[in-house]
Amino acid sequence: MRRVRHGDRLIKLVLPRDLRDRIVADARHTPTVEICGLLAGRGTRCTAAYPVRNISPEPATAFYMDPQEQIDAMGMMQASGEEMLGIYHSHPRTDAWPSARDIAGAAYPGVAYVIISLKSAAAIEVAAFDFANGDLTPMPLEIA
Ligand SMILES: [Zn+2]
Repeated sequence: MRRVRHGDRLIKLVLPRDLRDRIVADARHTPTVEICGLLAGRGTRCTAAYPVRNISPEPATAFYMDPQEQIDAMGMMQASGEEMLGIYHSHPRTDAWPSARDIAGAAYPGVAYVIISLKSAAAIEVAAFDFANGDLTPMPLEIA
């Protein structure tokens, strides 16, 4: 069997195009506030996205997931035999690169942190990052 995880960590994330398009559409739907949610699947391949309400008091520049909705989404994943592969959020005005707050707020090693940047409407960027040793570093993201 091909090894897709290194230790407990995801080494890349595969995001099907339709799922990418869906989270990008959600992000564009509320272009002044960050959207957020969870990505679920098996191995390295995402099969579902679970939007979660952003309850940050400063939603234009930060996200904080509604804890109950997050728990509910994790319950739905378990019920359908999926594992949590990623956490996504949008950046209305900045690049697809983790902010200092994103790094400070990251809490799940082993999952991909996916950022959707709406900075350029003509070229929406989506990028994935690996959380390890207190930092978020780029992780390969395959749109397939
Ligand atoms: Zn961010």
